[in-house]
Amino acid sequence: MSAERRVSVLVIGAGFGGIGVAIELRRHGFDDISILEKAADLGGVWRENTYPGAACDVPSPLYSYSFEQKPDWPQRYSGQAAIHDYLRGVAERHGLLDRIEFGAEVSEAVFDEQAGRWTVHTADGATRTADVLISAVGQLSRPQWPSIPGIDSFTGEAFHSALWDHGVDLTGKRVACIGTGASAIQYVPQIQPEVAQLTLFQRTAAWVLPKFDTEYSPIQHKLFAKIPGALLVERFGWWLTAEISSLGLVELPVISRLVARMATRNLTENVADPALRAELTPDYPIACKRVLFSSDYFPALTQPNVEVTTEAITEITPEGVRTADGTLHPAEVIIYGTGFKGTEFLWPMRIRGRGGRELSEAWSAGAHAYYGITVPEFPNLFMVYGPNTNLGVGSIIYMIESQSRYIRQGVQLLADNPGRVLEVRPEVEHTFNEELQKRLERTPWNFCSSWYRNATGKITNNWPGTVTRYRRRVRRLDPRDYTLTPAA
Ligand code: NAP
Repeated sequence: MSAERRVSVLVIGAGFGGIGVAIELRRHGFDDISILEKAADLGGVWRENTYPGAACDVPSPLYSYSFEQKPDWPQRYSGQAAIHDYLRGVAERHGLLDRIEFGAEVSEAVFDEQAGRWTVHTADGATRTADVLISAVGQLSRPQWPSIPGIDSFTGEAFHSALWDHGVDLTGKRVACIGTGASAIQYVPQIQPEVAQLTLFQRTAAWVLPKFDTEYSPIQHKLFAKIPGALLVERFGWWLTAEISSLGLVELPVISRLVARMATRNLTENVADPALRAELTPDYPIACKRVLFSSDYFPALTQPNVEVTTEAITEITPEGVRTADGTLHPAEVIIYGTGFKGTEFLWPMRIRGRGGRELSEAWSAGAHAYYGITVPEFPNLFMVYGPNTNLGVGSIIYMIESQSRYIRQGVQLLADNPGRVLEVRPEVEHTFNEELQKRLERTPWNFCSSWYRNATGKITNNWPGTVTRYRRRVRRLDPRDYTLTPAA
């Protein structure tokens, strides 16, 4: 190991982001890396979300690292367990398992200007230091419970989709499901056949496309293993489909219109009852919220034991859910598929940069960063899957790989300039964000509320364009965008 590669790195989070960036750094000779993981296992959202039917609606050949293609995915849209196993296998093959400190929940990170290093505190009272801090905590790691009056008064069982209580037997029960997002449309069809009564509380109808899932056959597995090009063709096909769909967001609205037509046909073909169909018809432009994929959601909603209610929820009572029309919907179990605190990013960690400035203060009007990766006044701090790097369509792993390469170049600059710290120039980051917000104004995300926008309506989560555009722009870290100054 050459001396100039001895930059120490602390990564927060052992999900796809943290594992991906650690691999990229190690492959380029940076070996002084520790990953701090609050849980007892790696996996991020793929460890947490174990609800029935949990799967990725991005095809597995695309939702995987480019350098770790897997010829034997069980399905095109693999389930949570298979994805979790895949990530564990990747971490193992790349020698990362003994680099992960489990049960290490970061509470605070402080940049020491004298030393030019980060001091990181964990909830157990321990302290670590490193030259570089990389946050890879994801955007969807903290469940959002709704603030409905009486929520704590319910006497039955209640849990959030991301904290699924597998100890609760739903067989023959009256179950209330609140929320109709990407999570709910996966578990509703799974639990519907076993429950006595399922009442689905829908605040906003979703645009739903059919999911062309398939189990890969042993012949396909052999083909993918023997002819790696075959797997790449499948990966490329899905990548291209996602890229073309992304063009519909800003450049070519005609694509969105075509996709909307497909979704409408999916609804009309699956729901015959005009009243139910009307309730399930979205009243906002497609792609404003995440477009969902399912071939069994609408059929499940037409079953006799399912009731869809669009009345607003006014309170939770000890017996169930009351809606604005005064009806009490009795329930023995309430499942909250109400999403995540997506716009809070690194919160509740306290991150203090130059002069003790807190990241939450710098982001008081909404999170922002240069390509979602670096923030002025927070030297030697990088983020994976940071602000404005989520996608309406496509694979986040592709974004994670783009960011990892960019971050590795930053770490390289630090290795080449010992004793100096790297910080994005405020004017560069400011101009970038002005441009970004202008482009975001042209996206459909402005026409409804979603976890892509913060309380003031600012879109803090999404990248407005194709992944090609993002990758092209972050391919090279331009040193002119940064200052490299001696530690004080
Ligand atoms: P979500 O998309 O944010 O959906 C939350 C749902 O809860 C919405 O239908 C929302 O209604 C409803 N809701 C929230 N508060 C409510 C209240 N007080 N009363 C009534 N309804 C309320 O959450 P999610 O389904 O967990 O998905 C979050 C994200 O996770 C997705 O967008 C996606 O990025 C990711 N995800 C991905 C996959 C995948 O296959 N790749 C699967 C699951 C999740 P409104 O729409 O009216 O706000």
